[in-house]
Amino acid sequence: MIRFEQVTKRYADGTTAVDELSFEVAEGELVTLVGPSGCGKTTTMKMVNRLVEPTAGRILLGGEDVATVDPVRLRRTIGYVIQQVGLFPHRTVLDNTATVPALLGWKKARARERAAELLDLVGLDPGTYGHRYPEQLSGGQRQRVGVARALAADPPVLLMDEPFGAVDPVVRERLQSEFLRLQATVRKTVLLVTHDLEEAIRLGDRIAVYGQGRIEQFDTPATVLAAPATPYVADFVGADRGLKRLAVTPVTEADLEKPAGDPAPGAAGGAAPGEARGKTAGTAPGEVPGEAPAPAVPLGASLKDALAVLLQHDAGHIAVHAPDEPGRVLGSLTTAGVHRALRRTAAADVSSR
Ligand code: ADP
Ligand code: MG
Repeated sequence: MIRFEQVTKRYADGTTAVDELSFEVAEGELVTLVGPSGCGKTTTMKMVNRLVEPTAGRILLGGEDVATVDPVRLRRTIGYVIQQVGLFPHRTVLDNTATVPALLGWKKARARERAAELLDLVGLDPGTYGHRYPEQLSGGQRQRVGVARALAADPPVLLMDEPFGAVDPVVRERLQSEFLRLQATVRKTVLLVTHDLEEAIRLGDRIAVYGQGRIEQFDTPATVLAAPATPYVADFVGADRGLKRLAVTPVTEADLEKPAGDPAPGAAGGAAPGEARGKTAGTAPGEVPGEAPAPAVPLGASLKDALAVLLQHDAGHIAVHAPDEPGRVLGSLTTAGVHRALRRTAAADVSSR
């Protein structure tokens, strides 16, 4: 969907911001560009919507060389979210959100209807917030309006430059979760710039780790953490990359102690496979009446979430149930299982390269 071919950008003062960059973002994929300040991330992004022109190479958008597209038309078909948001201070939230549809010549009523829909989608009640001005919103709310505005004309591509950088960590984490939920519905092709590795890992289907003007590694977060391609990447992801991998590695059936249907270890007396535990009158095996429900996570939860639950309880293991079926326990996870899962993914990542 977005394809960089040997793209170089040298600014007038001789700075080479981007050096023969080649990579591709698939349709519906969210790619994060991560690296230290000044490594060329913003320059990369701005060449897609022609706010910056490359010195050499070309960028294809849906197969079309962007250099051949009128910049104004191009920008109206690409959503753009920046840290400073850039809302018009003297326009209401609703009118800010409707900016691009209005520019595209939509009827006013339709543009406003669309804007209200989008505000709703990003969690702002249009009735409450639509008629406010930007200064009457919190930083996080302004950021949401920025996202709503970028999505208003339903562009296939979204460019986001440090979109959650200007808000405090708690709000940032909430905006990230909301954005992931939103992306699961709208499935845009997204290029997102951040200097924050945690954010890059959390949001990206794949991440591009930048060195000076170059991509050092372009792969899934799990692979970048498990098998950094260069010493630079290893240093950038940090000595605690093993810990970070917990967040991007899901619990799978192979990590569980017992095959599907068997009771969890430690449960005295076995129910037959597939039989619900504790359906006999009285107490379920291994449970005490009145005790809090046994700790459990769904299959597919991150190892990080699973480990957090595991460490909260004394049992040394937690039940893992089918996704969306808390009653169907598939097996149990122990710290040994967590360790095995990390070994397994590291081995798989290395052998697939
Ligand atoms: P990042 O977004 O990763 O922080 P940028 O793409 O903004 O990095 O900048 C990459 C390099 O290009 C930096 O060295 C920066 O100083 C330089 N640069 C950015 N914009 C310009 C410009 N308009 N003129 C000259 N140099 C620039
Ligand atoms: Mg930047």
